[in-house]
Amino acid sequence: WESSSEDAWAFVVVGCLHNEASEGRGRLAGKNAIITGAGGGIGLETTILFLREGANVLMTDISEPALEKALAKAKEKAPNATGKVETAKVDVSKEADVQGVVEKLDAWGGVDVMFNNAGIMHADDADAIDTPEKIWDLTQNINVKGVWFGSKHAVLSLRKHKKTKGSIINTASVVALVGAATPQLAYTASKGAVLAMTRELAVVHAREGFRFNALCPAPLNTPLLQDWLGDDQAKRQRREIHFPTGRFGEAIEQAQAVLFLASDEASFVNGSDFVVDGGMTKAYVTPE
Ligand code: NAD
Repeated sequence: WESSSEDAWAFVVVGCLHNEASEGRGRLAGKNAIITGAGGGIGLETTILFLREGANVLMTDISEPALEKALAKAKEKAPNATGKVETAKVDVSKEADVQGVVEKLDAWGGVDVMFNNAGIMHADDADAIDTPEKIWDLTQNINVKGVWFGSKHAVLSLRKHKKTKGSIINTASVVALVGAATPQLAYTASKGAVLAMTRELAVVHAREGFRFNALCPAPLNTPLLQDWLGDDQAKRQRREIHFPTGRFGEAIEQAQAVLFLASDEASFVNGSDFVVDGGMTKAYVTPE
C-alpha cells in the first residue's frame, strides 16, 4: 500500500508540475471571475492571486474610490498578469446592479467563478435589545440578499453559457459556527444565513457541476474589524485571547483558500463550511 500510494502521489505531483510547466498559465487560466467587495481586504488580496493565476477579473465594490485604489494595487502586485482586470461599481443589495455586472461578463464568455464577498458589520450592530431595526435590515440586505443575488445571477450565467462547471464562493464567518459573547446580532444572523443558503445551493446545483462553498474567516487584520476596534486594547484583547496562534488572521490567508476553492483542484469540494481561522473554533483554552 505504502509504495503504491507514494507512487500515485508522485504521479499526481509530476502531473501537476508538468501541466503547470507546459501550460505556464496558472491555476485559473482562462477563467472569468467576479469579486464583490474587491475594494479592500479579502476581495483585493483575492483579486491579486486570481490575476497571478491567469484569471480575468471584474472587481466590484460599492465604493468607487476604494475600487480605484484597489485596481492600482492589483496591477502593481500582479504585474505579469495575462488576464483582463476591470472595475465596476455595484451595490450587492440591488439586484439590477448585480445582474448588470454579471451580464457584462457575457462579452468575456460568461462567469466561471463568482466570489460573493461584500459584507458589512455596522458600528450600531449590538445585542437583541439595542440593535436598531434599520441596522438589522441593512445588514441582511447586503450580507444575505447580496449573496443570494450573486448566486442567482452566477447560476443564470453558467447556464446561459452552457458551462459544465462553475465555482461560487460565499463569505460567511466563524460567527456562523460559534457564539460570540461580544454581540453583533444582525451580522451573526446574516452569516448563519449565508452558511445555510450556500449549503442548500451546493446540493441543488451539484449535478450541473456548479460548486458552492462558504468561506468562514476568523477575525482579521482588515479595515472591517480593525477600524471598529480602533485603539481599544481591552476590546482587542477580548478577541485575540481566543486564537491558539495569538494573532488575528490576514486577508491573504483567506485569499489562498478562495483560490483553492475557485480552482479545479477543488473539483470535489462542495457545500463545505471552509474554515480558515488558525484553529480558533477548535480551541477550548489557548496556550499562555
Ligand atoms: P473590508 O471592509 O475590507 O471589505 C469589504 C468591502 O465590501 C469594502 O470594500 C466595502 O466597500 C464593500 N461593500 C460594503 N457594502 C457593499 C455593498 N452594498 N455592495 C458592494 N460592496 C460593498 O472587509 P473584509 O474583511 O475584506 O470583508 C470581506 C468579507 O469577509 C465580508 O463579508 C466580511 O463580513 C467577511 N469577514 C470578515 C472578517 C474580518 O474580521 N475582517 C471576519 C469574518 C468574515
